[in-house]
Amino acid sequence: MVASIIILSIREIIMINLDDFSSFYVANWKLNGDFEFIDNFLKDLKTPKDKKKCVVICPTSIHLDYLSKKAVDVFIGAQNISSHYEGSYTGEISAKALKELQISFCIIGHSERRQYYKEINQEINLKAATLVKNQITPILCIGETLEEKKNGLTKEILKKQLLESINSSCNKKNTIIAYEPVWAIGTGLTPDLKEIDEVHEFIRSCDSSFVNFSILYGGSVKSNNSKEIISLPNVNGALIGGASLKSGEFSEIIKD
Ligand code: PEP
Repeated sequence: MVASIIILSIREIIMINLDDFSSFYVANWKLNGDFEFIDNFLKDLKTPKDKKKCVVICPTSIHLDYLSKKAVDVFIGAQNISSHYEGSYTGEISAKALKELQISFCIIGHSERRQYYKEINQEINLKAATLVKNQITPILCIGETLEEKKNGLTKEILKKQLLESINSSCNKKNTIIAYEPVWAIGTGLTPDLKEIDEVHEFIRSCDSSFVNFSILYGGSVKSNNSKEIISLPNVNGALIGGASLKSGEFSEIIKD
């Protein structure tokens, strides 16, 4: 009885206060990694001494529990969640189950999910709501395609994605926005620094409720461009795909 009360109370203390951090580094491992990969990755990982840097690793759902039991000085995040609280939704993973594993963050609305699984803003909005309700911080991704960029639609697309996918329960203390131009993901291409900062400034200013949100940049971030991107005035960190799979490279990106 006593033991279960202690476990319950530990499980309650998982809500992250985003105000405690100055920058965020989120590793999106996508559908990569196995138990051996995790062991080797953690063996070589060097975490920053600066505890104001928040480092989050998002493995596949199968590996969440293993990684969270082994990793030190990093938070663990999921890459997706059901928009439903519970019920007859075969194959889905609930925010409630993530909470039981003490998972602190969850990426939602990644462009790969929008593209391959036809996720729409309204569904992402529901996912954000169920995460916030379960004290898990959504990392909500938005971004324009190359065609939309070429047609001068970037700002229009981003504003629509934001207004439709950010739930009314989201605020700067419980939700992170990640700007990921779709054409920059996994391509080695990035917008120039001025453009990144301008887009982040636009995200802040397109609706008064977004002004103080933490906004991450994602898309071909590597150790050779991360410092200059993250030091831009309107950028609060990075969402890193390919480069986060190499422990040395990722350690370099998160280094003090
Ligand atoms: C991503 O998929 O979120 C991403 C940013 O990938 P990459 O860093 O490989 O461009």
